[in-house]
Amino acid sequence: MERKIIEMLELQTWLNIKTSWENWKLGVTNKWKIINWRRCIYMELAEAIDSVSWKHWKNIEWGIDYENFKVELIDIWHFLMSELLRTFTIDELVILITKYSESKSEVKLPLEWSKSDNANLDDIIEPYEHLMALTLIKIDDKDYLENLIESFFICLDSASVSFDDLYQLYIGKNVLNKFRQDHWYKEWNYIKIWNWEEDNVVMQRIIEKTLWFKEIYEWLEENYSKLK
Ligand code: MG
Ligand code: MG
Repeated sequence: MERKIIEMLELQTWLNIKTSWENWKLGVTNKWKIINWRRCIYMELAEAIDSVSWKHWKNIEWGIDYENFKVELIDIWHFLMSELLRTFTIDELVILITKYSESKSEVKLPLEWSKSDNANLDDIIEPYEHLMALTLIKIDDKDYLENLIESFFICLDSASVSFDDLYQLYIGKNVLNKFRQDHWYKEWNYIKIWNWEEDNVVMQRIIEKTLWFKEIYEWLEENYSKLK
């Protein structure tokens, strides 16, 4: 577990620098845009909540897009690690993440929706709204940040996403982000649909075969070069 945590934190550091925000820890990009990781987190939480049918005025029969819900949780993890890396060292985070990765949620997100779930919607999305509420508090100390970690892992447990699932999904998304970045830099016209499939879907297939960053990247490179 320790190796996986370190790998994710290092990849995230690398991704932030690669996106050419050398000063990302100071909260500003190289184009002088403000970086607010907590805003990123609550907006992604809104996207996650939008993956369930919370709207009382439409899609009454529709339930949950669980695959997308997980993707949004991974997006949150990118931003949460970035927020934490501003304050904690990687060694400190290994301890904290290991500790809170055991957190359990009292409520479970239904992976398949039934009519009765509509009546329990407030309970079902409580863990996510709780994390959202935390991100809106203007505090910046270590206890507060620990609460963010705990709250995030409660959300993961609620959504039946294990630590290993988190790792697998994160690695895949991170490699893809890096791949996209590299190609955007080179050519400015990155192709996102590969033979009628989104690059995300291709990547999901690859991570079923390997979880090594380098191998995933090479697979992507090989598939991408065939498009031309
Ligand atoms: Mg989305
Ligand atoms: Mg998102």
